[in-house]
Amino acid sequence: MGLHLFNTLNKKTEGFTPLDPAGRGVGVYSCGPTVYDFAHIGNFRTFVFSDLVRRYLEFRGFDVRHVMNITDVDDKIIAKVNSGQSTHTDFTRGLEKSFFEDMATLGCLQPHYTPRATEHIGDIIELIKRLFENGLAYQAADGSVYFSIKKYIESGHRYGQLVNLDLDQLRPGERTKHDEYAKDSIADFALWKARTAEDGEIYWRSPWGEGRPGWHIECSAMSMKILGSSIDIHIGGEDLIFPHHEDEIAQSEGACGGTAGQPFVRYWLHAAHLFVEGKKMSKSLGNFFTLRDLTAQGFSGREIRYLLLSGHYRETFNFTIEGLHGARSAIARLEECILKLKETAGAETAVPEDEILASFTKAMDDDLNVSAAWGAVFDWIREKNRQLAENELSPQQAASALAAWEKINSVFGIPPALTSEIPQEIIELAENRQAARKARDFETADRLRDRLKAEGWIVEDTPKGPRLKPID
Ligand code: AMP
Ligand code: ZN
Repeated sequence: MGLHLFNTLNKKTEGFTPLDPAGRGVGVYSCGPTVYDFAHIGNFRTFVFSDLVRRYLEFRGFDVRHVMNITDVDDKIIAKVNSGQSTHTDFTRGLEKSFFEDMATLGCLQPHYTPRATEHIGDIIELIKRLFENGLAYQAADGSVYFSIKKYIESGHRYGQLVNLDLDQLRPGERTKHDEYAKDSIADFALWKARTAEDGEIYWRSPWGEGRPGWHIECSAMSMKILGSSIDIHIGGEDLIFPHHEDEIAQSEGACGGTAGQPFVRYWLHAAHLFVEGKKMSKSLGNFFTLRDLTAQGFSGREIRYLLLSGHYRETFNFTIEGLHGARSAIARLEECILKLKETAGAETAVPEDEILASFTKAMDDDLNVSAAWGAVFDWIREKNRQLAENELSPQQAASALAAWEKINSVFGIPPALTSEIPQEIIELAENRQAARKARDFETADRLRDRLKAEGWIVEDTPKGPRLKPID
């Protein structure tokens, strides 16, 4: 059937074919974080989804170039820098570093390119110049440069490709410097914001005076610079559809009209929001968890990743702590089976089992239906457990099952457990118990086993030695 994706551009699930005539290379652009604070796990739902898209494309044999920008200049960043002690660079680089550490904790692959807006000011200026040449940009009395939606439409372009807009509401000449203005106002948006007193020393020079770029133009400039004027896939959270992505289309298509009639982006993918108790997780509502809040409560990156990848990306997802406990038991079930398969397989190697790979691929080809894919995996795990219990699997068959799981997990990307997930004192108790057993001091060994149990851990004695497992 081939990979099918729901495209916000035409609201249809359609077969995916890359722009590359050889059918291999795929350019993917994900709107990255605005580094003014730690990202919350709502943001990470979208970023983990981007990682899933990249991994699945690679699983399907495509050669992916993944770009994720860093927005390191905006109103919130400027306000924070100017009210604090650190310099703009120290402040944004520190948060950028934390962001990529969090991404690694969540098992996300590093995107191939992570351009910073402030390092592409020259490209942004060039793009604005082209918009001037095409008659789509103008400088207003306040010194800022705006994009004229009216001129864009008059020159034969369509504004409102991702959303239905009431163009009668178009109020020519009305302008906004804000990147996130109200959804129902179709106002001209800022490409270049003239320097104000609040900006302090955070500004760049341009042909239109000192100032800084608008948010939307950053993504157009970096996407076109790295991936070309027409790309295959662009990803973001659903709140970015309008105005951010609509404005990216307007700027990019207004500047170069796409390559050979191709649109700026061929497939737009938008992840639905993560909710907490029925409300969108957001900084402004104060109902958010950063990744660090959750790891401090003892949850691991892989449990959080599993939870974020358990529901379909186009459905809103209700985040709960119970959900994380559920993720913990699901991973434990999965890994218990994988461990037993490893014990049975020994040093044997084999080609991956086809059947489970076929069901996994069928589910994922259908607009990345992870819930169906996990369903297939857990049915398969149940069957493997039965076969293991009844000694029905040869080492060769176990190795083949393991090879299939490795391919599947190249997409799910659940990282291996860190040994540090088992507290040091628990490891010591288990080692002492093992020493007692070796010394045939079974009384001490049993007492230590009970203590471990009281701490929430079970010791299982396997042919390969004792194994610790948390009690669900
Ligand atoms: P920001 O750093 O605010 O630009 O957001 C980074 C990404 O997170 C964007 O793609 C947003 O659409 C996305 N995002 C923001 N809030 C949520 C949420 N509650 N659930 C899922 N994605 C979100
Ligand atoms: Zn963007």
